[in-house]
Amino acid sequence: MFFSVIYFFPKLILYFIALMIFDMEYATIIAQQRSFFNTHATKKVSFRIQQLKKLKACIQHNETLLFDAIYKDFKKSDYETYVSELSLIYHEIDLAIAKVKKWSKRKRVLSSLANFPSKSYIIPEPLGSTLIIGAWNYPYQLSLGPVVGAMAAGCTIILKPSEIAMHSAQAMQHIINTTFDPEYCTVILGGIAETSALLEHKFDKIFFTGSTHVGKIIYQAAAKHLTPVTLELGGKSPAIVTPQCDIAMTAKRLVWAKFLNAGQTCIAPDYIMVHEDVHDALLEALITHIKKAQYTIANKNYTQIINDRNFDRLIQYIDASKVAFGGSYDQKERTITPTLLTAITFDDTVMQEEIFGPILPILKYTSIDTAIQQIRTLDKPLSCYVFTKNTALKNKILNEISFGGGAINDAVMHITESRLPFGGVGNSGMGNYHGEAGFESFSHYKGILQKPFWLEPNLKYAPYNSTKLNIIKKLLG
Ligand code: NAD
Repeated sequence: MFFSVIYFFPKLILYFIALMIFDMEYATIIAQQRSFFNTHATKKVSFRIQQLKKLKACIQHNETLLFDAIYKDFKKSDYETYVSELSLIYHEIDLAIAKVKKWSKRKRVLSSLANFPSKSYIIPEPLGSTLIIGAWNYPYQLSLGPVVGAMAAGCTIILKPSEIAMHSAQAMQHIINTTFDPEYCTVILGGIAETSALLEHKFDKIFFTGSTHVGKIIYQAAAKHLTPVTLELGGKSPAIVTPQCDIAMTAKRLVWAKFLNAGQTCIAPDYIMVHEDVHDALLEALITHIKKAQYTIANKNYTQIINDRNFDRLIQYIDASKVAFGGSYDQKERTITPTLLTAITFDDTVMQEEIFGPILPILKYTSIDTAIQQIRTLDKPLSCYVFTKNTALKNKILNEISFGGGAINDAVMHITESRLPFGGVGNSGMGNYHGEAGFESFSHYKGILQKPFWLEPNLKYAPYNSTKLNIIKKLLG
């Protein structure tokens, strides 16, 4: 005991000194960003467009660096990195450049009779100094996607990517910090200690992507300063497969959506609820498509599990008695092959938390009402997918299950639609982004009533009397 104290005490002191130095550095950067924001430079639409163009150019010029970094983190292939990260960011940037002028314009709305004569309008204004905290599973998209919204809205930005995908975080730090002035946009690296130190400071907006557990910590830290938050969290997203669907196409789309990024996707179908009549046909079709995709340990295009902790957590779910396909893994390579589990119930361990890996439990249902009831016993998911040609059934599910967003007869692809707001509800998050929703997320909407001086009816002024009351009742309804 004595020796361990002698050994650890100096290290602990050094650690706290390092944190204090970091904290002073953070305070300086935040103060510089605040002063820069107060120059109003970021409010000019031309400035925002210029920064968005710079962002796109620096990503494009550094694609190879970004591909290499993410491959080092978890062997994510160039193809998947381009399709599921960079192309989405480019698309967001292009849309923001094309629309930011329109989004940031003041909007006229009708004034009521009570204020005649007057004008009413809404002015979008940037919230100010923002902190964006990213997750590791799509390190570029989940960090730089919100940056696009913040830039379009005219905010200053501190980006803290996830330390878990360390090489990707360092690559982003390199390209952002060599492209932008730190008083406008900068990347700070770090884990829990550094993020906690950052959260002690006051921001005008915090945008967080990550787990529900950490989301609660962020929300509490933000509450101390009454800072508005967007929380992009996780959950167990169901895919409901009804008898009235094209089974082969359903399986093809589900296999892609689930095993993309080795299942480490917040909106991946977490589990399948399939009608008993089509259970066997779906299982067979899923196996066919997994085989076609060649997701094997040897395949260089099949992503690794991010770290040992997640690998160990995932293999606990592989109950050999329930494996219908797959179930093999390689500890050294941190790879788990696509695994289908059958005869699963809501009581199984795999149904108790978000899987976040290439393991897909398949549950049978007989009655859609019971299936909906069971899904609703879990927290509100980030996504829900319905495979059906039956419009009434589709509408029933959309009406009766609350979830962030989703797709009909597809999965995951709704994230590619910049015109759809993206976000969770309940335990899967609060607030939205992508496209205009991203701009809104970093904006405050000032409501303004403007009156001329030439007329002011005496009706609202004291002394009051019954005649005034009768007129007011008629006017205001
Ligand atoms: P995480 O919550 O562990 O980490 C996210 C971020 O929070 C990281 O930057 C990390 O450094 C920081 N962090 C971790 N612990 C902290 C603490 N105690 N105090 C302050 N900051 C802390 O999440 P993750 O493992 O990176 O990502 C996986 C989770 O994120 C899954 O639940 C997934 O569903 C969810 N997710 C959601 C979305 C979405 O868009 N809704 C996208 C991707 C991932």
